[in-house]
Amino acid sequence: MQVPTSVKRFAMDRALDFTLKDARRNLPRLMRAVDIFEGPDTPRTFGSQRSMIRRVINDPTNNMHQLMMRVIDEVDHDQLKTVFSNFFVNAILNGWNRQNDLREKYDCNIPWAILLDPTSACNKHCVGCWAAEYGHSLNLSFDDIDSIITQGKALGVYLYIYTGGEPLVRKDDLIRICEKHSDCVFLSFTNGSLLDDAFADEMLRVKNFVPAFSLEGNREVTDSRRGEGAYDEVVAAIERLRKRHLLFGFSCCYTSENLESITSEEFFDQMVAWGAMFVWYFHYMPVGVNAEPKLMPTPEQRELIYHRIREYRNTKAIFGMDFQNDGQYIKGCVAGGRRYLHINANGDVEPCVFIHYSDTNIHEKTLLEALQDPLFKAYHAGQPFNDNHLRPCPMLENPELLRDIVKESGAHSTDLEAEESVDHLCDKCEEYAKNWQPTADDLWAKYPPWWLKGNDESKVVQRQKSPYEQGMSMSAPCYSCVLSGVCKHDRGENCRGLSTRSALGAGLGLVAGIAATAALVRHRHRK
Ligand code: SF4
Repeated sequence: MQVPTSVKRFAMDRALDFTLKDARRNLPRLMRAVDIFEGPDTPRTFGSQRSMIRRVINDPTNNMHQLMMRVIDEVDHDQLKTVFSNFFVNAILNGWNRQNDLREKYDCNIPWAILLDPTSACNKHCVGCWAAEYGHSLNLSFDDIDSIITQGKALGVYLYIYTGGEPLVRKDDLIRICEKHSDCVFLSFTNGSLLDDAFADEMLRVKNFVPAFSLEGNREVTDSRRGEGAYDEVVAAIERLRKRHLLFGFSCCYTSENLESITSEEFFDQMVAWGAMFVWYFHYMPVGVNAEPKLMPTPEQRELIYHRIREYRNTKAIFGMDFQNDGQYIKGCVAGGRRYLHINANGDVEPCVFIHYSDTNIHEKTLLEALQDPLFKAYHAGQPFNDNHLRPCPMLENPELLRDIVKESGAHSTDLEAEESVDHLCDKCEEYAKNWQPTADDLWAKYPPWWLKGNDESKVVQRQKSPYEQGMSMSAPCYSCVLSGVCKHDRGENCRGLSTRSALGAGLGLVAGIAATAALVRHRHRK
């Protein structure tokens, strides 16, 4: 039986109210309630997930427990309730089902999130940023953005992510959109320079706008790429948000030159000290006719990042995601509308924020029609592009595939400054792809994903400890005991391993409250 949205929202509000009153006491009580209603841990009762959520809730030394408490202690509770309700009830509980139904009905990808550029304008000229290459006069109008979101909601999409250009160039319109679509969550990449007190006040009022600041690591590295004073502008914007207890995170692009600074332990600790709750890492992509291939990390550098971000995800009180190395959790490439798509400031509907080719424009076709066009259908048919999800991309790690997709679909370059042929782009990736393959295959074999173990035992290679795990102390949470719930390090009861999936599932911890309430509602409906 389908639980009505109003019931889910009511249940979640009550669970959050109860939890937020005294989280340290009430979260374990909620979890006990779930356990009583759901019974023993079995696959049918989401036993492994519950077991991991239980571990997070009951262990104050666990980094995800600490993150959960930071969110509860540091973020405005009204904003928290709005964001969680829009995210969990609308984007996940409701949106997911609707997307699945429509995927089947139309036999095409239906996204979970939509990225869009409100403007191509940016007040900075960062080295290697494709936004800086764009013309400076393109905008999606308020009506365009409103229409995209209205169409998106009809498809079950409640998560919108602003890229650019600098989205806050359009900050008045963005706030109006937040008001009009108060049931959605809006994330925005930003350089922070335009986030003033007045805008922070508006954020507090609408509650559904969450910025992710772009930094390169420390002051020296950030200013050298983004211009003198760029680092201090972000620090000032963070201060404004902290005063108002508003949620925020970071977005970081790693290159061969900045990776030490941007993935250092010092930088992670700094982000936590600033009050950030999440950080998204992106691999530098050589997109644009003037992009520098030498900024792409070497295989050794990428492997270092692979281990490092996993290590900190399991030890630091901040949720870190590595867009290019986390394919195993989302079964490879998520673009082409499989989980997301990108609409640029000209209205071109692109499969990915990094793939500047399109065969359709939002001014000429609906979102659903765009998803049924040849380029998006080619993504739909081709995904996953590689069985090894450490080589997920049809451009970066499998450039021969993007050549075919673009040529066969008839898509054209959407680079607004200078057209780039798909051969020009893919030529830059050939050597990178060839060099990365042995390392990627080695990592995939040594650390196979949990679902591969479950699906095909013959492919599973005896798992080895990563260099980080080998050096870890008994008190540190380990990454590896993942979803099996079985400790592979002979730590037995002392093992506090936490998988990314459980961290995500824990949803910064409060999901326990949601799960408890949903379980209660489900149980009553079953009766
Ligand atoms: S196209 Fe490449 S960069 Fe974009 S989501 Fe897919 S794998 Fe990632």
